[in-house]
Amino acid sequence: MADLNTDVRYIKGIGEKKAQAFNKLGVFSLYDLISYFPRKYEDRSQYRPIALVSDGEQVCIRAIVADMPRLVRVRRGMELVKFRAVDESGSVDITYFNQNYVKDNISRGDCMVFFGKVEVNGSRRSMVNPVYEREGAEKGVTGRIVPVYRLCAGLNQRTVMQSVRQGLNLCGDELPDILPEEIREGCKLVQARYAFENIHFPADFEALELARRRLIFEELFVLACALGRMRGQRVNEGGILLPHADLEGFWRSLPFSPTNAQRRAAEQAVADMVSGRVMSRLIQGDVGSGKTLVAAALIWFTWKGGYASAFMAPTEILAEQHFATLSGLLGPLGLRVGKLTGAMSAKEKRLAKEALKNGEFDLIVGTHALFSEDVEYARLGLVVTDEQHRFGVSQRSALIGKGERPHVLVMSATPIPRTLALIIYGDLDVSVIDELPPGRQKVDTFAVDESYRQRLNGFIRKQVGEGRQVFVVCPMVEENEDLPVKLKSAQEHAKELALTFPELRIACVHGKMKAKDKDSIMASFAAGQTDILVATTVIEVGVDVPNASLMIVENAERFGLSQLHQLRGRVGRGPHKSYCILVSDNDSEEVRSRLKIMCRTNDGFRISEEDLRLRGPGDFFGSRQHGLPEMHVADLGADVNVLQKAQDEARRLLEQDPELSGHAALRERVEALFRLNAAGFN
Ligand code: ADP
Ligand code: MG
Repeated sequence: MADLNTDVRYIKGIGEKKAQAFNKLGVFSLYDLISYFPRKYEDRSQYRPIALVSDGEQVCIRAIVADMPRLVRVRRGMELVKFRAVDESGSVDITYFNQNYVKDNISRGDCMVFFGKVEVNGSRRSMVNPVYEREGAEKGVTGRIVPVYRLCAGLNQRTVMQSVRQGLNLCGDELPDILPEEIREGCKLVQARYAFENIHFPADFEALELARRRLIFEELFVLACALGRMRGQRVNEGGILLPHADLEGFWRSLPFSPTNAQRRAAEQAVADMVSGRVMSRLIQGDVGSGKTLVAAALIWFTWKGGYASAFMAPTEILAEQHFATLSGLLGPLGLRVGKLTGAMSAKEKRLAKEALKNGEFDLIVGTHALFSEDVEYARLGLVVTDEQHRFGVSQRSALIGKGERPHVLVMSATPIPRTLALIIYGDLDVSVIDELPPGRQKVDTFAVDESYRQRLNGFIRKQVGEGRQVFVVCPMVEENEDLPVKLKSAQEHAKELALTFPELRIACVHGKMKAKDKDSIMASFAAGQTDILVATTVIEVGVDVPNASLMIVENAERFGLSQLHQLRGRVGRGPHKSYCILVSDNDSEEVRSRLKIMCRTNDGFRISEEDLRLRGPGDFFGSRQHGLPEMHVADLGADVNVLQKAQDEARRLLEQDPELSGHAALRERVEALFRLNAAGFN
């Protein structure tokens, strides 16, 4: 007897080779097999009379083979099988290329169903290589909505489909419903068996929608339970106990007062660190909201308590900037601040590591180099990571492993809607800095098309003439991408600009450059040695160039709203009035309304809410910025309401049953998720 854990080899037709191919797709057991959801569907449910099909339509026709299929040799290596099929309304010529076996499968008088594109030429109708099966056959590749799976070498659609069919027949009835009955009913979700059946072989589109909704809910619910449990366990875990100290001592050293939001975030973190439990806190704040200052306050606090801190940045140049900022803030207060980056000489690194080990630094600022194996810390109390989305969760954990469970503060400048933050960062406590320092001016934003090019060039000249600098961002162009629209590649656009502005200093950075070269170009731009910097999104991460007052985004339709917002955050960081110009010739309703949102607001949280509303959470999950397990929901297209509901229900359930001891099947799934992602989750 087969059950959900049985190896896929058990399926008829799956031998060693095919099993290996399935393994490559992550399918090992029958449960994996029936959880291997289609990538999309093809609607083959419509039967049409031949005469009523118009040119180019994809349909099923039911027809009788009217003559003997014959083999035609066109030339060497090219053979055709040709025949005519008829129904009551008309006839169609059918051709198969290089599929001689068709001749043996089909004979005159057979009643068949063909699915494919019909070409109409005058009164003649024809189909090339249509899918076929005998009318009334049980194989089921026509006359229904057909699943389309992601494949790999060694597998075709038919094999996967037939295997899944067998898998469902063998153990579909054993599927435990991991959703507690009252939640399933309360949320009006279909049963597991129905969902698995209809996600693969939907009876109709309504059934597909019901199945999808249930499975999306299930996936998010399991994730929310997993994160909720981690958080619950963490709450009981001991951390370094730091003594109380009044942050006023730090705030008073500043030339300005902290915003209320900064104070609140810092106090929340302090409360964690004096609790005896280990802190895992995310600080979310828009670009320019002053997250670094909050980190500085907490580093100061940790130092007061007798411990050192590590501050990790995603790039060399950001590490340099943070080193300069933090030394400036904390050095005068008596902290010894060090630096450790990959760009330092071997000797400098060795000295820095020795100093670290001997406890001669109260703060070390650096890049990934901070958690190389040979780095040892003395009394590490706090780890801060900036721009968290650039680090995998596992990288962060390598650093955490350095001390005896130091407190962790994660700073993210990607505003994420609250609904989503709860799912994505469900294992962290979240503080939000929702207030900008006073006197910040809004970056004036305009969406224009190519017809503005002349005026735009004039504007560049004017800004540079006033001593300012300009960012020009071009979309990343993938090598193998089909280009339906003309995209500006950064390099080519830089050349064009050089012709337009021979008198200006223009540089270009793009993703294919070595990190070292990128950094040096960024650094000379930051030092004011370049007027215009043409770039792909490599500049997204927070390099500070206060003198830059104009950001131009080419092919703006290619960027997500949150990304545009991040980009825009690169200007308006100094005293100068700043502008962002979004250039796009795309006039689709959707693109226009997205760009309009950018022109209307500078509030990152509002923008990300809109992004979520317009495009669904797929982009947030798809970007894998969070280091969580890969979600199938991204493909299935979750909506915000399901997200919210899954989160609420998970929280309610964990309150009643924190260990999930009353929900064995669910607990099993949650634990499987932990095991699969042990590295990422720890
Ligand atoms: P973020 O990292 O959140 O994008 P930063 O911490 O780099 O922002 O701060 C942006 C700028 O605002 C810095 O130049 C910083 O000195 C300044 N700043 C931060 N907090 C305040 C404040 N409360 N009042 C005035 N200026 C501030
Ligand atoms: Mg920052």
